[in-house]
Formats: sequence, C-alpha cells, structure tokens
Amino acid sequence: MFKINDNYQKLPGSYLFSTIAKKVNEYSAANPDKKLIRLGIGDVTQPIAPAIIEALHSAVDEMSKAETFHGYAPDLGYEFLRNAIAENDYKARGCDISADEIFVSDGAKSDSGNIQEIFSEDNRIAVCDPVYPVYVDSNVMAGRTGTYDPATEMWSNVIYMPCVKENNFVPEFPKETPDMIYLCLPNNPTGTTITKAQLQEWVDYANKVGAVIIYDGAYEAYISEDDVAHSIYECEGARTCAIEIKSFSKNAGFTGVRLGYTVVPKELKCGDVSLHAMWARRHGTKFNGAPYIIQRAGEAVYSEAGKAQLKQQVAYYMKNAATIKRGLQEAGYEVFGGVNAPYIWLKTPDQMSSWEFFDYLLEKANVVGTPGSGFGPSGEGYFRLTAFGAYENTLEALERIKAL
Ligand SMILES: *Cc1c(COP(=O)(O)O)cnc(C)c1O
Repeated sequence: MFKINDNYQKLPGSYLFSTIAKKVNEYSAANPDKKLIRLGIGDVTQPIAPAIIEALHSAVDEMSKAETFHGYAPDLGYEFLRNAIAENDYKARGCDISADEIFVSDGAKSDSGNIQEIFSEDNRIAVCDPVYPVYVDSNVMAGRTGTYDPATEMWSNVIYMPCVKENNFVPEFPKETPDMIYLCLPNNPTGTTITKAQLQEWVDYANKVGAVIIYDGAYEAYISEDDVAHSIYECEGARTCAIEIKSFSKNAGFTGVRLGYTVVPKELKCGDVSLHAMWARRHGTKFNGAPYIIQRAGEAVYSEAGKAQLKQQVAYYMKNAATIKRGLQEAGYEVFGGVNAPYIWLKTPDQMSSWEFFDYLLEKANVVGTPGSGFGPSGEGYFRLTAFGAYENTLEALERIKAL
C-alpha cells in the first residue's frame, strides 16, 4: 500500500484569497448597483510592452522554419539571455556575477519553492513575518518546519522575524541561529525595504554564523532610493552566502508569460560541496528549460526600447502608489511602503483587526484590499493595497476612502 507525503497534511488551509473572493462575491450579489474597485491583487494589469511583443512575434516566426527552429533549450538557459542578465543586472551595477552563474527558469515562485531541495532536512529556516507564503509552505512540504500551532499561527521549527512599524519593518537578527534565511526586498507584502548598509549587516551575519540567504528580488525594478541595493551581490561577501532569485513578472508584466532566474555563485559552498553544481544537477534533472520564444522576450527586456518602455510601465504603477500613499495620509492613516515597491501597507485605524477593516472598506467605500493578517501573525492590524490597478480607478478609490 502506498503512503503519501504526510507533510502535505500538515499544511493549514490557505483561506486568504478564497475568503476575500467569497466576501466580495457575496457583497456584489447583494449590491449589484455598487461598482467595486479592486486594489487587492498582486497581479499586473498593463499589457506587454511593444518591444517585447515584437521579439515574441519574431521568435514565433523562427519556430516555423526548419533552419531557425529551436527544440530543447540548454539547461541553464540560452546564452543570449544569460549574457544580457549578467551585463545589465550585475556588471552594470558593479556586481561580480558571470553568465554561467545564472540559471534561467519559468519564474520566481518555482525557484523560491524549489531551492530548499538542495538543503538538509535538518536546516532551520528564518522568515520575515509577515511573509510571502511560498517560503514557509515549501519547507512544510519538505518536513522542515515542525508542528503548526493554530492559536499562534506559527510553526515550532521556524524562526520568525517580525517586521512591524516599531522596528521600521527591518528584520532583526534572531535569537536562535538559523541555517537558511529568506529575505524579500523590497518586500511583499509591506512594500518597505532596507538600506544597502543594513543588507550588508545581514550578509556579514550570514557569513559569520554559516547561514545561506535566499534573496528574493522580485520588486527590484521599483527601487527609487539611492541607498537601496538592487542586488544582494552589491554587498561585500555575498558570493559566499547568498542565492538571488529574480522574476520578470513585476518589472515586465510576465505574470502570464513566465520567466525568471536564480543566481548561485560558484564560491557558495558547504565544506567542499558547491551549491552551484547541486543546483545545476537539480535543474538538469527536473527542469527542461524556459521556452525559446519566452527567453527571446526576456532578452528584449534589456534592449534600449524595452528598457525605456518598461521604465514607463513601472512609473505608471508608482504614480498609483504615490496616489494611494498621499490620499491615505490626507485621510489621516498611518502609511508605509509605496516608495520602492508597488505595495502600500497601512495601519488599520481605531484598533480594527485586519479583517474588520477589510469589511469596513468593502462595505463603506466598495474598495477591496488584502488583510495583513493573511501574511502572518505580525500582519494583524495592517492592510495591503496594491498599485497594480488602473490610474483612474486608483484615484476614485482614494476619493471614496477620503470621503469616509
Ligand atoms: C510576484 C512575486 C514573485 C514572482 O513570482 P513569479 O513566479 O516569477 O511570477 C516572487 N516573489 C514574490 C515575493 C512575489 O511577490
């Protein structure tokens, strides 16, 4: 008789987005005349930029002729894309990362979920609280997190690093020593980030205690302040302690196109064992490459036209972020994020819980957001609004909130 991976049974139901959908549907059914504005989703809405569409069309045409047809892609990704990444995302920023340290993938969710496979089951993970759920859940599936306490919403073998307004949303070094540290900066859901000097302290800490940092840079394109690092490899010593995961989803609107990459520096070792070699083996065995067509689209992200068009796209979303932030401040809210990320994180007023504020905003302003408590216990009393909507809707949502 076969047995299942029991760890899956330990996963608590993920009720966040299904509960939101249920509440929104019920409200809509009862109030068909009300126009809802959705500022809850973490998905982009702008269409793919023209330079990228052009690259996609031309790659599709190549596939139609025997002379230019492409079958299986090389394990690590096509050189044209890895060279463009190395040049633009690293060399141009003074980071010493070469093309053969870059592994092209179908996105950051899979990489951030899969990367734990190359580490021992005995490792202890540390995560920020609130957190992007993939980091924790993928370690639950692997049996690394101990038991779940529904009362505290915490796992016995996970080290939580609260990120709240009292510490300016900057994770503090934990009391117990972790083996693997997940950092997502700029952060989803809080929209906040840390300075390059603060990130350097984390790199020094990881090297000192012998931990590896899994660094999720999905929102790098939204950084607007000069003292914020665009890559963890801007920090000295990161090549011996950090893996960086990047996505084309938020900077280029590839949430439905699918492309990402992971950097594993060759100096990153456990004793004599190279993590680069392990990830190469894992990639070669379990992944058959991102599509040629999509990798050509990824290359166009780094073309002159592509860069200019994407800069405008990011600016469009960040204008929404500024609109939300200013509007909420004018309405008297305590507001965080929205400067280096497309997320606004607000403190709920009058001691309301995250869900109470969700209902209040839905019923009184017909605006949908995301309760902070859905991202972890330290998210209680906070609320997330996203800048990924249309500008006109964002403006109207804020007018409604201000009128409350
Ligand atoms: C959106 C997002 C990603 C991107 O995932 P893809 O699979 O590349 O679309 C990764 N990490 C975080 C924290 C995100 O919010």
